Amino acid sequence: MHSTIQVDLDSLWTYQDYLNMETPELSCDPIYSQSVQSFLDLFAKYDLKATFFIIGKDCRNTQQIECIKAIVEQGHEIANHSMNHLPDFANLNFALQKQEIVESHNLLKSIINKDPVGFRAPMFSINEKVNNLLEELGYKYDASIIPSAIFPLLMNSAHSLLKLRPVNMRSGGIRFAKAPKSIYNPDKQDICRRGNMQIKQVPVGISNLFGFPMHSTYVFTVGKFLFDSGFNFCLKNNITLHYLFHGIDLLDLNRFSIKLPRFKSLSRRQGICEYIVRKIANNSQVRTTGDLISI
Ligand SMILES: [Zn+2]
Repeated sequence: MHSTIQVDLDSLWTYQDYLNMETPELSCDPIYSQSVQSFLDLFAKYDLKATFFIIGKDCRNTQQIECIKAIVEQGHEIANHSMNHLPDFANLNFALQKQEIVESHNLLKSIINKDPVGFRAPMFSINEKVNNLLEELGYKYDASIIPSAIFPLLMNSAHSLLKLRPVNMRSGGIRFAKAPKSIYNPDKQDICRRGNMQIKQVPVGISNLFGFPMHSTYVFTVGKFLFDSGFNFCLKNNITLHYLFHGIDLLDLNRFSIKLPRFKSLSRRQGICEYIVRKIANNSQVRTTGDLISI
């Protein structure tokens, strides 16, 4: 069985911005000053290479640039997570979408000395227009689809429960449930269907329990059995797993005023993250996403 491990390095400011909180001026975002090293240590312990999705705006800070270089030096892949992590990305106007991808691409390229080949839209907000643009720009893969019917419902209800800004899932959401669960070349008119585009879709892994998402956020909330059920299903059926973490998973949130359900105890989250990484490392061949799509 093959797998990839992916980390969205959404900085603390993305959460503060999203929660309409003030964003204090910091010399280095805590996701970079703390979480990155924790992830690098964890991946080094199990000798595996992962893919880090990075926001272009974070590439303008010297300390953060050093962190990105450290990620690359350890053999991990850097992918593009847009310039400003704007909400409702799929419905932005075309010129702004292009600017968000290209500006971030160029900044990342200047740090890693090569073209990033992978993209994930902020909050998985993807559609055909963005996918076609990525292909035009020479991207080899997009990883913005969660092929789950329940994910948009969970996301929308969690956000209304927390009285957050409403999330517009029009651009994808429920129709992504019909997308293939393993890597595929999408169709130009319908990214949920197999077609003959060059770019590949790398769908985020879901569990086999009603298609419930199983990335770390949901495992913290529901429990380890959610990961086990999805992982064992992939193992049994030889399905490639693309497992997703977020930078915030290994951040001590008690030091900040952000309150996320089931994120209170860092040691509990560290335990769950290590459990997941150990199980993936011991039972599958882990490659960076860029490497996996080229074999
Ligand atoms: Zn993100």
